[in-house]
Amino acid sequence: MVYKVVIADDETIMRLDISEMLTNAGYDVVAQAKDGIEAVKLCEDYNPDLVIMDVKMPLLDGLSAAKKIISSNYALSVLLLTAYSDKELVKTASEIGAQGYVVKPIDERSLIPAVELAIANGRNYQELDQQLEELKGKLEDRKYIDRAKGLLMSEKQLTEDEAYKTLRTIAMEKRLTMSELSRILIGE
Ligand SMILES: [Mg+2]
Repeated sequence: MVYKVVIADDETIMRLDISEMLTNAGYDVVAQAKDGIEAVKLCEDYNPDLVIMDVKMPLLDGLSAAKKIISSNYALSVLLLTAYSDKELVKTASEIGAQGYVVKPIDERSLIPAVELAIANGRNYQELDQQLEELKGKLEDRKYIDRAKGLLMSEKQLTEDEAYKTLRTIAMEKRLTMSELSRILIGE
């Protein structure tokens, strides 16, 4: 699988260097941005696996752009680029949900492993997020079904087991999931 990357840096030479390193390593550099605004727009358009984002850029800085990209889910992962080792940045990078950062000057030996790790972490995070959403959905379903069951038990004087079976039978007849039927019955 060829990963799509967007590079954002206000220095042309830096963009060219990184682009060359990534292309040599088999990545597909789909777009390049020279400020934070372009970075956000291009990520929205291309939905890359990774955006490599310089922190200090005009119009909109890299951290703000990264924040927007992460919260809007425009890219799978974000790797920040900084000119110096900054302890504060490490904290900020993880707080906004970036997968990592690299310190300039950049060379292939440090960039490519950081890129691989960022994408792998981004994928893991996405999977966990999906599992969490599914789990939330199941818990929600369970809540609706329990409430519908309670309603049937009190209105029709059914046992819990009878109420459950009644729900299941109606759901099958009406081709609804138990959760859909339950939400109709409880009016939600
Ligand atoms: Mg810069």
